[in-house]
Amino acid sequence: MSTTIDTKNPYNGDALKSYPLDSENAIQKKLDTAEATFKSWKTYDIEDRIDLLKNLADTLHQSKNRLSTLMTQEMGKPILESKAEIEKCIFLIDFYVKNSDQFLQDDLIETDAKESFISYDPLGCILAVMPWNFPFWQVMRFAIPTLTAGNVALLKHASNVTGCAVAIEKLFLEAGFPEGCFQTLITDHQSVESLIANPIVKAVSLTGSEKAGRKIAELAGKNLKPSLLELGGNNACIVLEDADLEKHIETMVKARMQNAGQSCIAAKRFIVVDRIYDEFLEKFTAQVKTLTSGDPMDEDTTLSCLAREDLAETLKEQIEKSVALGAQVAYGDQKDGAFYQPTILTEVTPEMPVFKEETFGPVAAIIKVETEDEAYEMASNSQFGLGTMVFTADHEAAIDRISDIEDGGFFINEMVKSDPRLPFGGTKISGYGRELSKEGMLAFVNTKTVYIN
Ligand code: NDP
Repeated sequence: MSTTIDTKNPYNGDALKSYPLDSENAIQKKLDTAEATFKSWKTYDIEDRIDLLKNLADTLHQSKNRLSTLMTQEMGKPILESKAEIEKCIFLIDFYVKNSDQFLQDDLIETDAKESFISYDPLGCILAVMPWNFPFWQVMRFAIPTLTAGNVALLKHASNVTGCAVAIEKLFLEAGFPEGCFQTLITDHQSVESLIANPIVKAVSLTGSEKAGRKIAELAGKNLKPSLLELGGNNACIVLEDADLEKHIETMVKARMQNAGQSCIAAKRFIVVDRIYDEFLEKFTAQVKTLTSGDPMDEDTTLSCLAREDLAETLKEQIEKSVALGAQVAYGDQKDGAFYQPTILTEVTPEMPVFKEETFGPVAAIIKVETEDEAYEMASNSQFGLGTMVFTADHEAAIDRISDIEDGGFFINEMVKSDPRLPFGGTKISGYGRELSKEGMLAFVNTKTVYIN
């Protein structure tokens, strides 16, 4: 068994760094530190926690170039997207700087009591199991509201972004957060089982695959601990005959291709009404051709390699099986190591892997339908439930569909995206629980009823 986690650059295969795995003793020490810190951290005034958030935003700002480079080296994201990710983390922190005090206020409720209210108390040490696709954003999205509510956190990050995991722990310390508020564990995912069982850990949050979600939900259930799961998605992008393609085609391509398609909320199935189909395909293909592939450290690169070569291999298999079932390659489909050329598949039908499964790479599955009703039916024909987007000039008709959409989000004339001001999460096999906004801040609190007579 390996005693280290070794990271490598997926673009050129260069070895980056070797990180010794934490011993069992080291992990227990981190758990004990977390527990000890929680006792004092939960007593901090909210103003003091908010001051530390402000320091963290400054620290992130000052380290933006260094952190973006690290992210790009570890998982291949184009450097400009890495910088944008750090900026989005700063935006997130600013949001909680402005709103946390209000979100955490007691809620007075009139009852028969002299006074009754709800107080929101932190739970303690929360375990976060996080993925590599947005190595800073996914962690910050969990950590900022969770810590500000008075919890402490332990991070088990995806192994290929261990350098980012170590850097995030340092950021919290540099910003002045007490030692033990946020700690990174250098460990493989086998240790998650004993971590969830450990009495110090009070809840677990996962962003990752459905498979990891099922395992973590099982472990959390066995130990009767709350869990929040943000899993994969297979979002439909419905294009109706009155869609303004001139205006929105760039957004539609970005919705699929950003981060080389490695996003849970990416548009994966394009469901296009017959009457606009040819025009859509022509414009979509032309826009895809404008993507520039190359060295992710080059600012001109807009489409880079995938984060690991095995991810490109999985994608290739999904495409091959779909082609065997009748899908047509309208554009792309070349693989070179971890790089996958942006690919457009037409004649896609529901029994194909590119329709049924999450494709985590730059492949757009295009489905032609006759009517608007058929488009919505096809969109909801999925086990996943993260988000649906529709492009149309008829806002009223789209608004009438809101209650038919079973997903966590419905976006009209915009790609599905996360925004700190709005809740984020899924239904069905995309998981449960909500991150961001007030909901995200209350994800790991004890909503306590207080009754005074
Ligand atoms: P994983 O779900 O395997 O990895 C995400 C995190 O979960 C990592 O920290 C990983 O640790 C951990 N993990 C994996 N298996 C277990 C387990 N059995 N118990 C506890 N923790 C576990 O994603 P992959 O990297 O394998 O990506 C595969 C697919 O997952 C993608 O193609 C995509 O479909 C989906 N995915 C979705 C994401 C999203 O944003 N919703 C993000 C990433 C992936 P370790 O790295 O040590 O294995």
